[in-house]
Amino acid sequence: MDNKIRVTVYRGSEQIGGCCTEISYKNTRIAIDFGSPLPEDATKELDVIGLTKGKSAFDAVLFTHYHGDHVGEIGRINSDIPVYMGGFAKDVIAAYKRYNPHFFADVDIDRIDEFVPGNEITIGSFRIMPILSDHSAAESFMFLIQADNFQILHTGDFRLHGLYREELLSSVKKLGKIDLLITEGTTLSRKEDANKAYTEEVVENLMRNCIYENKYCFTILSSTNFDRFKDISDSVDRYRMDNYPRGKYFVIDEFQKSLFEIAEKRLPDRYLFRTKTTYGKNIDAGMEDKGFIMMIRPSKADHEALLRKYLVECPEKTVLIYSMWSGYMKKGKLKELTDMAHDKGCLRIIHSSGHVTKQDLESFVEMVEPEKVIVIHTEKSEEINKLKNQISIEDGETKVFEI
Ligand SMILES: [Zn+2]
Repeated sequence: MDNKIRVTVYRGSEQIGGCCTEISYKNTRIAIDFGSPLPEDATKELDVIGLTKGKSAFDAVLFTHYHGDHVGEIGRINSDIPVYMGGFAKDVIAAYKRYNPHFFADVDIDRIDEFVPGNEITIGSFRIMPILSDHSAAESFMFLIQADNFQILHTGDFRLHGLYREELLSSVKKLGKIDLLITEGTTLSRKEDANKAYTEEVVENLMRNCIYENKYCFTILSSTNFDRFKDISDSVDRYRMDNYPRGKYFVIDEFQKSLFEIAEKRLPDRYLFRTKTTYGKNIDAGMEDKGFIMMIRPSKADHEALLRKYLVECPEKTVLIYSMWSGYMKKGKLKELTDMAHDKGCLRIIHSSGHVTKQDLESFVEMVEPEKVIVIHTEKSEEINKLKNQISIEDGETKVFEI
């Protein structure tokens, strides 16, 4: 047994999706995240001896947030290894499992231990503090991982143009000296808009204008982007006050309603969705009369039929607001529907990334002043400029740090 920290990136140095990082010290081995590759990453299943096969050798796996590229392979972790995540993420996974038995089919929800923001947990030789972060998944965490006097900050996915940036920065400033920063670098390798990002406040303004100016609004966005739903919900509330008693519907489906309930229960300081109506044929006439913004799922035939009807019958009063990463819009049903709206002059793209911009990441590194930096959640690219104090690492490689 020696006094060395070992960090192994199993996956994440060459592709955005499916990251998994091991940190070990003395007799303790932990892993952070165990996700699925993104659809565009053609990679095979990740097996780690002692984690997914063979006699268990890990003391715990901790998850930063509920996005599939971080949590998707949780079901493949040996059943005797404890897994930890925030209560919000646990509830979201349970909701997906109830909604569609194919999601997380191999996950036993009862095996998941919850941690609480700001409450340190001890796992063997590590003390770990979950820090509430800011990302397009609600209740995402950074982890401060302490091994004796060596401090590692693992950022998970984060951004500094969201609603909670000040809260996050003030938490990080209190951490003291960081010996190793393990950070996401999604935008370092994505060519489009690496430096530009609307703040979430700008997105809210654009959403509100769109809702005020167009009687019939459809929107396509991630079910679990609760900040974005809050933008919409608050805008509809404001519209209803300004136009009382005419109002406007904010239409969702049963599954979305159950996700809203999780957000309101788990993070009541951040989320309250006052005005919402569950879609059914019974409100078709009311929607046509009063106007609406409706969250649609491209996989649902009744949602698609309604969108097509409005685009054909009254394109001058109808918009489709696309509010996700543009990469998803390039194929399948999403392409079909957004192309159709575009051809009618009805497509609006209003979005802000969940990932820190290159500029913000550079200033974050300046602020944290880590001794060393490891970048994960990024694609391999010769073009990327290295961050200050960044060390290169490849998938499967282990770096050793003296305490
Ligand atoms: Zn994420």
